[in-house]
Amino acid sequence: MASINRNYLKLPGSYLFSTISRKVAEYSSAHPDADIIRMGIGDVTQPIAPAIIQALHDAVDEMGSYDKFRGYAPDLGYEFLRNIIAEKDFKDRGCDIDPSEVFVSDGAKSDCGNIQEIFDINNKIAVCDPVYPVYVDSNVMAGRTGDYDEVLGCFRDVIYMPCTAENNFVPLFPKEIPDLIYLCFPNNPTGAVMKKDVLQEWVDFARKNGSVILYDAAYEAFISEEDVPHSIYECEGAKECAIEFRSFSKTAGFTGLRLGFTVVPKELEAGGEKLWPLWARRHGTKYNGAPYIVQRAGEAAYSEKGRSQIRQQIAIYKENARIIVEGMKEAGYEVFGGVNAPYIWMKTKDNMSSWEFFDYLLSEAQIVGTPGSGFGPGGEGYFRLTAFGSRAGSIRAIDRIKKL
Ligand code: PLP
Repeated sequence: MASINRNYLKLPGSYLFSTISRKVAEYSSAHPDADIIRMGIGDVTQPIAPAIIQALHDAVDEMGSYDKFRGYAPDLGYEFLRNIIAEKDFKDRGCDIDPSEVFVSDGAKSDCGNIQEIFDINNKIAVCDPVYPVYVDSNVMAGRTGDYDEVLGCFRDVIYMPCTAENNFVPLFPKEIPDLIYLCFPNNPTGAVMKKDVLQEWVDFARKNGSVILYDAAYEAFISEEDVPHSIYECEGAKECAIEFRSFSKTAGFTGLRLGFTVVPKELEAGGEKLWPLWARRHGTKYNGAPYIVQRAGEAAYSEKGRSQIRQQIAIYKENARIIVEGMKEAGYEVFGGVNAPYIWMKTKDNMSSWEFFDYLLSEAQIVGTPGSGFGPGGEGYFRLTAFGSRAGSIRAIDRIKKL
């Protein structure tokens, strides 16, 4: 008789964003004329840049001709894309990453979720709290954690590293040594960054203890401060202890197109075994590659025109973030993030719980944000707004909040 993977049953309740959608749908049906401003889910709103659209059209035409048609993509991704990634994202920043260490994929979410498969089931993971839920949930599904503790709002046998206003939302080293350390900077949901000297300390910590850092740099394109590293490989020795995830979603508006990549250095080992061949094997066995046309679109994001166009789009989101941060401060809120990230993280009003504040903003100002508690117990009492909306929407939202 077939039976299920019971680890899935450890996952509590419904997914954060489905609960938000349900609440918003209920509110909309009760108030059909309400002008709801959505600042909840981290999805982009700007259309794909013209240089990228042109590359897509050209690639579509190729697919319709006998000479240029392409079938399955090479396992690790097309060389034209891996070469340009290695050059522009890494070599230009002084990081010695070879194209063969770049694995092209359909985005960072799948890679962040799947990477745990190449590690022993007994490895202990450490995550920031609050945290992007994929890291923990994928380890729960695999059976690498204990049960969910309803009271604490945490899974047993996971090391949670509190990220609070007191530590500027940058974790301290945990007392118990983790095997796998998930770090995400610029951070979702807090918008915090790790300065280069601090990230170097984490690299040193991982090397000393034989841990592997799983570094999610999906929001790298939003960095504007000088001493914030764009890649973990800017730190000395990181190739011996870190895997990095990147995404075209927020950088170039590919949330619908789907493209990302993961860097696994050739020298990286865990327990004396190299990780590159394991990830290559996993990628080759379970994945058949991002579409050719999308990889061509990704290549165009690095062209001179593409780069300048996507920089302009990011500048629009960053200006939204500035308007939201300033406006919320003027409205009396304690606000964080929004400088090197599209996320604005704030303390709720009058010590409301995160969900109380969600209901309050929806009913009183028709604004949808994300309750901080949805990212872990450390997020309770906090709230996240995103800068991915329109300029007009961001301004309208702030005006409404100021009037409350
Ligand atoms: N990593 C973080 C921290 C994210 O916030 C997101 C998306 O919101 C992702 C990864 C997923 O990126 P992708 O769209 O490339 O799957």
